[in-house]
Amino acid sequence: MVGATQRAMIRPCLTLSCMPELPEVETIARGLDQRIAGDTIESVWLGEKPEPLKSPPEEIASVLEHSRIAHVRRVGKHIVFNLEGENRNGQKTRAQWIVHLGMTGQLRIASAQTGAAKHTHAILKLASGRELRFVDPRRFGRLAVVRVESQDGSGFAAPGDEPLDARIDRFITLFRHRKTPIKSALLNQKLLSGVGNIYADESLFRAKVRPRRRASSLTRAELQKLHAALREVLKEAIKAGGSSVSDYVDAEGRSGFFQLKHRVYGREGQPCFVCKTPIKRVIIAGRSSHYCPHCQK
Ligand SMILES: [Zn+2]
Repeated sequence: MVGATQRAMIRPCLTLSCMPELPEVETIARGLDQRIAGDTIESVWLGEKPEPLKSPPEEIASVLEHSRIAHVRRVGKHIVFNLEGENRNGQKTRAQWIVHLGMTGQLRIASAQTGAAKHTHAILKLASGRELRFVDPRRFGRLAVVRVESQDGSGFAAPGDEPLDARIDRFITLFRHRKTPIKSALLNQKLLSGVGNIYADESLFRAKVRPRRRASSLTRAELQKLHAALREVLKEAIKAGGSSVSDYVDAEGRSGFFQLKHRVYGREGQPCFVCKTPIKRVIIAGRSSHYCPHCQK
């Protein structure tokens, strides 16, 4: 539940530049799990555009068809569907469908009667009569399948550590010898998986650390603050996002989800909420970075 004060802190995000970050992907994965876990995929239609298909189309169709969706969860910025099926010999098989939403990708649950939207690249017909559709106007989204061969194999894994699971000692180990700006290190997906530009800027503001500082120059105390700030900002955003998931997954043509009101991101020239100093914007490793020159050292 989102309380009245928190509701005031969130705003709709409807522009193309608002690509889904970790909290949105988490929210979408949770919503999908609630709605379609337990359902079975009866058949699959795939569009002709090659870009979204990271596995061969026949492979995607053969893995998905007749599989039961056991569980949907987030791994990094990917949505992972754990699938269960049976091979010709009646033995249980396991596989995963991995979806990356890119910039404009959406997974929509629709009734079979609803006409398919423009830019629909995949339709999964479910035993419940509903359809799960992948819609993506800009085609940066990706669909892939992985067969999980061994019994204990966990399947798809993101390259870096999960930011909400990484403990403080691990966090310090990841960052303390890095010569790159701390902002670039936070965005490095081989270190942490799924931290994007917005939440990197917001957590650096909360930790009072300038984005251009070398990661290796941060004291242990600063890294501890940053670790706590990153977890805090991601958890708050997940909480806020939970209220809008039904809009995102269900509604035809409605692409918005909600994000926390940013304290620095996108606020260049506007007064800092803490000290009123205008927020600055600099480019670090090709990405816009926003910070308060007074509050952040
Ligand atoms: Zn300030």
